[in-house]
Amino acid sequence: VERTLILVKPDGVKRQLTGAILARVEAKGYTLAELKMVNADRALLEEHYAEHQGKPFFEPLVEFMLSGPVVAAIVEGHRVIEGFRSLAGTTDPTTAAPGTIRGDFGRDWGLKVQQNLVHGSDSVESAEREIGIWFK
Ligand code: ATP
Repeated sequence: VERTLILVKPDGVKRQLTGAILARVEAKGYTLAELKMVNADRALLEEHYAEHQGKPFFEPLVEFMLSGPVVAAIVEGHRVIEGFRSLAGTTDPTTAAPGTIRGDFGRDWGLKVQQNLVHGSDSVESAEREIGIWFK
């Protein structure tokens, strides 16, 4: 069965939205296979976000992800990768569709990085890579 890596980012944890976010994942019918709270270190985050090295938002992104605990989950189900990305909504929370996690709970806070509550893997290859990073 297909698996994906989901993160509730530090903004979601701080705003006490972890339960609301995971409830949507479960209500959609996906299975929480593994779940933990993590204080990520810089090395882990640089590996996770390797594709964004060199972009202007890379350093603010890593700092943001270091700013508090993250909830990491392995979630299972047929087509869960595209299903969760659909639940999450588009990257920019200002314009993410209402009804999505980012559209309902997110906004622009005027910061250098888009604080958009969640991460979800974007392909089978990245899911397996990211699961290996967060669940060593
Ligand atoms: P994720 O991979 O976290 O699910 P995504 O696939 O929508 O989100 P990516 O393009 O992989 O977004 O970017 C990773 C993260 O970097 C985004 O979730 C957001 O927090 C931040 N980010 C991406 N693009 C920008 C940008 N142009 N300005 C500020 N922050 C950004």
